[in-house]
Amino acid sequence: MHLDSVTELLRIANYKVAHMIDTGNKRLELVLKRVEEHFCVCSACGEIHRTAVHSIDVVRVEDLPISGKRVFLHVPKRRTLCPKDNRIRTEELDWLRGRVTRRFAEQIYRLTSITTNKEAGWFLGLDDEKVYRIDKSILEELSLQRLETVAVPRHMSVDEVAWQKWHKYVTNVVDVDKRKVIWNHEGRGKGVLDKFYHKIGKKGCAKIEAVASDGARGFLSSTKEHLKRAVIVLDHFHVKKYLNDAVDTVRKEELRKARQQDNGELSGILHCNKRFILMQNKVTDKRVNILEKLSLLNNPVYQAMLLKEQFLSIYATDNRKVAYTNLREWIVAAIKSGIPSFVELGYKFFRKRHYVLNYFICKITTAISEGLPASSARRESFRKDSGQAEMTEIWNCGKDHSV
Ligand SMILES: [Zn+2]
Repeated sequence: MHLDSVTELLRIANYKVAHMIDTGNKRLELVLKRVEEHFCVCSACGEIHRTAVHSIDVVRVEDLPISGKRVFLHVPKRRTLCPKDNRIRTEELDWLRGRVTRRFAEQIYRLTSITTNKEAGWFLGLDDEKVYRIDKSILEELSLQRLETVAVPRHMSVDEVAWQKWHKYVTNVVDVDKRKVIWNHEGRGKGVLDKFYHKIGKKGCAKIEAVASDGARGFLSSTKEHLKRAVIVLDHFHVKKYLNDAVDTVRKEELRKARQQDNGELSGILHCNKRFILMQNKVTDKRVNILEKLSLLNNPVYQAMLLKEQFLSIYATDNRKVAYTNLREWIVAAIKSGIPSFVELGYKFFRKRHYVLNYFICKITTAISEGLPASSARRESFRKDSGQAEMTEIWNCGKDHSV
């Protein structure tokens, strides 16, 4: 890739990519260079100093992944004399947050809002303590920023974050195009999102073209009330979470049974340590191995895994009609599977099918970046049988949005 294209892709104001070191299939190291020499903001006092540059430090920070590769930026930071305390201080860059970029920190923050720090860390290849530190610092910053004026987004996403896990909630609105949190407020649900729409007014509301959310009832009803024409998208990131939760419910139930029946082989496969391997979307040897064992035992967990993968493969198309057909097939398969958590999910996706399919009209999500590894979309063929006709009937009587 041309360095200018990578610079364009990164979009970091006043920095360009000077070198690129591709270390293979896992990591990308990018050496940055400042384009123009601006003044330095002092990290000790926060003021601008025009004193001569003493020296330059290069810090290595992690940024959002590109094509499944972790990205590390080598950023030059100037050190100057701070007249206030007469010491040499490093400059402060507002797009960095410690050893990660601010946008990567915001991504972590968003991930931890829908899963545990440990799982978010596993997913991103970070240890959970680091995830926790970044998460906490973003939360603190966001609660300070609350009263700034809001620029109306064209595409927005909204989600809620558990603050001090399970006690308090914060609702965040993100400008999807700018990849920035633009508004937040304590609490969640319709009343809180109403406040955002009131703040930007009717004119502001009319400018919003699409909204991605987790599909929570409060967010949906507030959005439908204030934005008459916007496309509402059920975020595929949350969809994955619903699927993972459903698989995990089956796993726990089967593990319990296997232990009761003293089935050492099965409980070994279903043990919590294997959970991450099962939840992965990547096709790895370990995962294929576990899946093969489960398929031989014809365990419900295997059925659940196939259902999950079949659902994720719906996203492999760009064609809404194809997605519509596949979603309908999936709902039928889920309900007919008889697996309680998937029957429930089948009905849930049936109720929210318009929002799932709206993704194919406007591909926005609540994740700040689309840089997270996409699902491997391993396809499995499913039996289509008689249950489909009756489901088609139910399917076609939805009223609130035309499909
Ligand atoms: Zn200073």
